[in-house]
Amino acid sequence: CGIVGYIGTKTATEVLIDGLERLEYRGYDSAGIATVLEGTVHCTRAKGKLYNLREKLEREVNPSQMGIGHTRWATHGKPEEHNAHPHRDSSKRVAVVQNGIIENHQELREELIEKGCEFLSETDTEVIPHLIAQYLPETVDYDGLLEAVQKAVHRLNGSFAIAVICADYPDEIIVARHQAPLIIGFGQGEFFCASDVTAVVPHTHAVLSLENGEIARLTALGVEVYDFDLKRLRKLPRTLDWNI
Ligand code: GLU
Repeated sequence: CGIVGYIGTKTATEVLIDGLERLEYRGYDSAGIATVLEGTVHCTRAKGKLYNLREKLEREVNPSQMGIGHTRWATHGKPEEHNAHPHRDSSKRVAVVQNGIIENHQELREELIEKGCEFLSETDTEVIPHLIAQYLPETVDYDGLLEAVQKAVHRLNGSFAIAVICADYPDEIIVARHQAPLIIGFGQGEFFCASDVTAVVPHTHAVLSLENGEIARLTALGVEVYDFDLKRLRKLPRTLDWNI
C-alpha cells in the first residue's frame, strides 16, 4: 500500500523506516525493506506493525546507502511474513516492491514455473522479480536493469507502482508506474521515491510526479525519466508549497 525508496549518502534503513512511518496512515498489514550491501540483496520483512520490522532491523548492522521499503495491504495472499514485500527472484538478486494488482499474474506464474522459477509467496507481485531476472543480460551492462524492468512492465496487466533493486546494480533504483501513484523527491546528492509526498517532505520539497507509462532510474547523481519504450523524457521537479 505504501512504497518508499532512497539512494544517497545516509543510512538507507533509517530513511526508509521513517518514510514508511509517514505512510502508515494509508493502512497496512505487514512491511519490509531491501537494500544492496556488498554485492547481495538484504531483505527484512515482518508481519504487523512497523515496530516489528524496526525491532528486526535493530538487530542487524546495515550501512547500505540505498534501498526500497513497503507497507502491504494484502490483495493476493494472506497477510503473512512470506507474502510481505520486498519479493525476490529465485537467485535472490532482484528485489521488488509493488502497490496495486497484477491481473495476469496467474498465467505469468505458470509460464515462469515452467521456466524453473521457484515461487515462495501467494502474491501477485512475485511474478515481477522473476520476470525481471529472466530479462537481465548475462553480463552486467549499463542499461541492463533498466531494460529488464522495461521488458517486464510490458508483460504486466493491471495497476502497479514498483520500485526495483538488483545486487548487480548497486548504484541505482528503477521505478515504474501504471495506474498507481509514485512521486520522486530530489535532494542534494540523494533521491527518493514514494507513494506520496508525505514520505519525502522532511528531506526535500522538490518533487516530480511520475505519470502512467513512465519509468525512471534514480542514482545518487540524479534522475532520468523515460516512457515505457525507453524514450528519454525531459522532466523537472516542482517545489511543494508545504508548511510543516
Ligand atoms: N497486490 C499486492 C499484494 O497483495 C500489493 C498490495 C499493496 O498495494 O500493498 O501483495
